[in-house]
Amino acid sequence: MDHGEARLTVVGLGAAGASLAWRMVDAGVPFEVVEAPAAADVRSPDRTWSTWGPAGPGPFGALVAASWPRIRLVAPDGAVVTADLGSWRYRSLHSADLDRAVRAKLAAAGVAVHERVLEGRPPSPAVDTRPVPVPTDGRTLLWQHFLGYRVRAERPVFDPATATLMDFRTPQPAGGVAFGYVLPTSPTEALVEYTEFSAHLLTDAQYRERLGEFLQRSGTGPHEVLSEERGVIPMTDAGFPASPEPGVLRWGANAGSIRPSTGYSFTTLQRQADALVAQVARHGPRGLTLPPPHRGRHLLMDSLVLEALTSGRIDGASFFVDLFRRNPVHRVLGFLDGTTTPAEDLALMATSPRAAMLSTVLSRVVPRR
Ligand SMILES: Cc1cc2nc3c(=O)[nH]c(=O)nc-3n(C[C@H](O)[C@H](O)[C@H](O)COP(=O)(O)OP(=O)(O)OC[C@H]3O[C@@H](n4cnc5c(N)ncnc54)[C@H](O)[C@@H]3O)c2cc1C
Repeated sequence: MDHGEARLTVVGLGAAGASLAWRMVDAGVPFEVVEAPAAADVRSPDRTWSTWGPAGPGPFGALVAASWPRIRLVAPDGAVVTADLGSWRYRSLHSADLDRAVRAKLAAAGVAVHERVLEGRPPSPAVDTRPVPVPTDGRTLLWQHFLGYRVRAERPVFDPATATLMDFRTPQPAGGVAFGYVLPTSPTEALVEYTEFSAHLLTDAQYRERLGEFLQRSGTGPHEVLSEERGVIPMTDAGFPASPEPGVLRWGANAGSIRPSTGYSFTTLQRQADALVAQVARHGPRGLTLPPPHRGRHLLMDSLVLEALTSGRIDGASFFVDLFRRNPVHRVLGFLDGTTTPAEDLALMATSPRAAMLSTVLSRVVPRR
């Protein structure tokens, strides 16, 4: 495939960059990569990416480190909502494994990876996945922030077939929600996180205290901490501005791929990577257009939920527990991944707290006195 001498530069080899690079090798398209060296301040720390669905994620099925056929939510009073995923799985893979695999693939294909911190404008044409400041001009900006420990418990306390997406047996912040997240990999080992969706970050000591409390309340008992994982992810209905540089497509978390209501983006990035590589293969690397990360109606629903949460019109814990209690699990997970039809979205909305959502809508259309 020859599109003249134009050679695409992929800047960043995180979730977005690696997803695109992997496919470009398979498509036989010439390109090169610029990635910050491992010791650079701007280098993204290792993380665990979780996704769900019938297969995948994308071409990375073989890299999946763990998967679960069941998920559960735990209400503040301890009531449990468990859902069997049928042929679907909740799964996670480690960024370090993807990094290793994509670098081996690039090396085998003779694709150059330039280890340097790129300042300023990338060469054109480029796909630039470097982070940008999170825009603050939306209606709502919450942070999904968390501290997780990979723990080894003394006793077999985890069910390795069940991922706990949200366990609300935690004190709840005003204008937000807090929960535990548990991904067991054996009866004694799990990644256990304390997560908040809220406007303000905590101190290190506060994260540790709340995670410690959660480990106690959820019955982990005596344990050893094997490693830590932390994160701060924006949840906002603000639009991310396109790259001002001609020939440079900004893409990734820096271009709105993170779903505002969930903080997840990995599956969205797989869809976008498929579309981008098809564009490059067909027309060459110039004039790429960003495949929209999310549907307009899903962004609107997310925006209403975020506002209802911050304004206190809905109680986050009840909202999420009821969402899973009142809907088939594939409908909820499909919505959170942006794959539901308008009919499924309507069915989902019919189970949401209508008065709270309606008053959120009205607060937007009726001017305040
Ligand atoms: C801790 C954490 C856990 C997450 N877990 C999930 C999850 O379970 N599921 C999910 O769907 N989403 C998750 N997300 C959200 C989202 O999927 C990730 O943030 C994802 O990594 C975003 O991909 P990205 O390629 O846009 O950014 P990154 O993966 O951060 O990649 C950006 C790349 O650019 C490089 N870079 C930065 N600056 C420069 C520079 N100046 N020069 C050269 N290179 C540079 C970095 O080293 C990095 O490799 C998580 C986010 C975090 C922070």
